[in-house]
Amino acid sequence: MARTNLFSRRQWLAGAAGIPALGLRQNAAGQVPGGPAGRKLRVVITGGHPGDPEYGCGGTAARYADLGHDVVLLYLNRGEKACPTPEGASLPRVAEATKACAILGARPVFAAQCDGHAVVDGSHYDEFRALLRNLNPDVVFTHWPVDGHADHRAISLLAYDAWLKAKKSFGFYYYEVSDGEDTLMFTPNEYVDIGAVEARKRAACYAHASQAPDRFYALQSQVARFRGVESGHAQAEAFIRHAQSAGNLLP
Ligand SMILES: [Zn+2]
Repeated sequence: MARTNLFSRRQWLAGAAGIPALGLRQNAAGQVPGGPAGRKLRVVITGGHPGDPEYGCGGTAARYADLGHDVVLLYLNRGEKACPTPEGASLPRVAEATKACAILGARPVFAAQCDGHAVVDGSHYDEFRALLRNLNPDVVFTHWPVDGHADHRAISLLAYDAWLKAKKSFGFYYYEVSDGEDTLMFTPNEYVDIGAVEARKRAACYAHASQAPDRFYALQSQVARFRGVESGHAQAEAFIRHAQSAGNLLP
């Protein structure tokens, strides 16, 4: 069933974005040895700000990358409140995100919204859907929508709408970040062991040096240890897979 969905998804993408069908990088058998689902995946982890994907999914991103999958961290904005950014302005949080992605084996992509002023309306749904379609994902992660930050709620809705409009043809997972302050009422149903890559996750989060990593990483570590207790690992990241999403996509 999943493979049928993949073919129909690529046909849809090919028609919608001019991307050649079956364009995933893969071997002659169409598989990535050792990877989840037995094939190379395009993984997109969306976040409200530079740093959110790293804190919520940094270990999972590193594990995907180590298995040879293509990993994109898609940020809703560049961390700039003055927006649009004047030509030639320095963008320190873009530099931090670029460094963080290099540590994890991912690459950064930025939507064109503004920090603290996310807009969810018809044109922004269209814009985000086009951005995601061009990334041609096999699996997408986004914020759980019950969240104290409006930008996190915004990208959650934008990503969910894109998934629905794509006829649920890629995997769809929610993640948690800064629980108690941002994410609330999160009851995960899938876990990823991050014990072997926690040091890289930590380094990627600390690459966001302007964002008080001592404070926020301490909180996220508590969460990772608790999710580890739940799932039988030293540390884990936890997810809610949408009940109508394809499964078997986590590393
Ligand atoms: Zn954020």
